[in-house]
Amino acid sequence: MAVALITGASQGIGECIAKRLAKDGWDIAINYYPTDSDKLKAENVAAACGECGVKAAIFPADVSDFEQCAELVKAVKDEFGSIDALVNNAGITKDTLLTLMTEEQYDSVIAVNQKSVFNMMKPTIKIMMKQKHGAVVNMASVAGLYGNPGQFNYSASKAAIIGMTMSAAKEVGARNIRVNAVAPGLIKTPMTDKLTDEQKNKIFEQIALKRFGEVEEIASVVAFLLSDAASYITGQTIEISGGLSM
Ligand code: NAP
Repeated sequence: MAVALITGASQGIGECIAKRLAKDGWDIAINYYPTDSDKLKAENVAAACGECGVKAAIFPADVSDFEQCAELVKAVKDEFGSIDALVNNAGITKDTLLTLMTEEQYDSVIAVNQKSVFNMMKPTIKIMMKQKHGAVVNMASVAGLYGNPGQFNYSASKAAIIGMTMSAAKEVGARNIRVNAVAPGLIKTPMTDKLTDEQKNKIFEQIALKRFGEVEEIASVVAFLLSDAASYITGQTIEISGGLSM
């Protein structure tokens, strides 16, 4: 059975991706941020995945930490025998205007959202190169494509992910490894619950489909990109925003 590793999969989009891939028959490695409450949530996600008849296990790691990522990838390989898909989903926001943004707010968002992709891809791609196959999906955002006021740090991290996706795709394409990204618009999750009604209304007005997105609508595109149905797609960033950018 093919094995998928998903970071930040104890809630929100990552949880939904884990459950969707389990339904599609993938064995699932669920990464969670090392706290007791995230562990409990990750255990519930693993139980739900297990109900699909696949193997599911949980792995704590702070993905902004290079060493912890190396240990995480090794632990998943030891437990499952292979890593056939990686979804770099973990992410945070620390929104504020550029002139008010602290160095900590900038650095921490870059570390968790952007450096984590390096931390995770370096050891995982090595395994995929030995396997001679693999697929990666990185979680970008419309903020990385078009920018967003109050998200200087977040936009920087997500724009970088788009460049990293293309560079990696060019490096490893000849090894039968595909690397793509998705760029969601506003999706209903604990992350976006934090937005004010004013912020949500402003975004809502720009959405052609006149509704916010559901986590399942991200998970289905990720599942497609990881599947053989997407075997000739690499280096792409697929926007999933209900037509936000037109
Ligand atoms: P979420 O509900 O906040 O989930 C993010 C997950 O990442 C949480 O489980 C979080 O754990 C985990 N995480 C955070 N820092 C971590 C770290 N250092 N190590 C390991 N795990 C960590 O957010 P979401 O909306 O599902 O977002 C998932 C991804 O989609 C993010 O990359 C986000 O930027 C992207 N995205 C979301 C939207 C949207 O509208 N929701 C739009 C565009 C892109 P804790 O709960 O403990 O922090």
